[in-house]
Amino acid sequence: MTQLQRIAIALSQFQEGKILLTPEQQHYLGRVLRLREGDRFIAMDGLGKWWLAQLEGTLAQVLELLEVQTELPVSITLMVALPKGNGFDEVVRCCTELGVAMIAPVISERTLLNPSSQKVERWRRIAQEAAEQSERSFVPTILEPVSFSNNLSSFANNEQYICVARGNSPHLQNCLQDKGFLINDLEQRRIVVATGPEGGWTEKEVECAINAGFKSVSLGRRILRAVTAPVVALSLVAAAYEAPTSAFA
Ligand code: SAH
Repeated sequence: MTQLQRIAIALSQFQEGKILLTPEQQHYLGRVLRLREGDRFIAMDGLGKWWLAQLEGTLAQVLELLEVQTELPVSITLMVALPKGNGFDEVVRCCTELGVAMIAPVISERTLLNPSSQKVERWRRIAQEAAEQSERSFVPTILEPVSFSNNLSSFANNEQYICVARGNSPHLQNCLQDKGFLINDLEQRRIVVATGPEGGWTEKEVECAINAGFKSVSLGRRILRAVTAPVVALSLVAAAYEAPTSAFA
């Protein structure tokens, strides 16, 4: 099954056991992937389901629902202060590969960029392509950019961490280990990790975040770039929950 090509299909395209393919999808399946009439592929609805489908002209016949288990056992949201240039493209791509559930681009006091709405569309496309590539069953949600300080309460029901590059914050890995969680608790766990821009968070931002329930954490002794930090934070959380050590579990 894994050799079959995967493409994301909107729910509205599923009709009575068939998939109505858009001209772009027909082009992609026929010309780019060179599938022929009767060939099979996987249709992902981006909401957790994969379907085995068979190409029939401008349609595809839905053959069966497939079992997929490629998602992390916890829901991880990243609040990422927008880095300059196209750095966020890479953040979206890598973090989708690593299993992020949601990315909230945030504008902080030292953020240099004010993104256009086309950027958000672009990031959503990148997330979709990366989810297909990584055989994920969910396409992560990319929120519209919002101010960091004004939205600190958006994820109040989550376990919240803010990564701070300097100072004596405990390592994120130790904070996760401190929890002593039960594996069968994982379904309900929701974690938010915030990472700052090139110039770092201001003291006031860190203070406000702590007041809002965030715990300040370190990702190690080296200063990581704004695009590296979210990838490292996500890798640590994913590894802790996906491959817990026996002492940890
Ligand atoms: N220019 C700043 C560093 C900014 S690094 C300075 O010199 O202090 C960009 C962001 O990555 C930071 O705001 C932080 O969220 C994250 N980050 C980078 N390295 C980190 C580390 N070692 N520990 C925790 N967070 C880190």
